[in-house]
Amino acid sequence: MQKTFAMIKPDAVSAGYHHNILQELELGGFAIVSKARVQLTRARAAEFYAEHKGKHFYEKLVDFMSSGPVIALVLAKEEAITGWRTLMGPTNSVVAKEQKPDSLRGKYGTDGTYNACHGADSPASAAREIKFFFPRLILDPLPDPATAKTFIID
Ligand code: GDP
Ligand code: MG
Repeated sequence: MQKTFAMIKPDAVSAGYHHNILQELELGGFAIVSKARVQLTRARAAEFYAEHKGKHFYEKLVDFMSSGPVIALVLAKEEAITGWRTLMGPTNSVVAKEQKPDSLRGKYGTDGTYNACHGADSPASAAREIKFFFPRLILDPLPDPATAKTFIID
């Protein structure tokens, strides 16, 4: 079972689409390991997307991601990382609407910036992003419940 990090972005939360997205991901076989509604500061959003610093869309992206609450998720499924990226569809929601109209970004996104959801793109990104939002979550290896000094946040 692989874990990935996913996020429902502020556009989808403010439109109420998070209800639809949470239902679709559970119907898609993803288990929700952790879920939190989080308001990112501008600085935290900038840090989360540091890999894109300097790109033409970066400042707008950081403004967007700190404009309202997000829902941060740790999801589990076989091949969760690629599976979640497939369920989301192409990055640009205009492209998603044309090419993958049934994808989450096709249905709930608007354009290149406001695209409803996020997903980690590799095991290394998933590990970094899970830690970024859920620093106390211990995933691998799972502690032995009989002896564990740590605990799992559900
Ligand atoms: P993702 O992994 O599919 O989310 O795409 P990236 O990691 O490349 O980009 C991160 C986020 O930046 C995307 O989800 C969009 O919200 C935004 N973004 C990416 N590329 C563009 C672009 O060319 N134009 C604009 N306006 N926003 C972009
Ligand atoms: Mg990305």
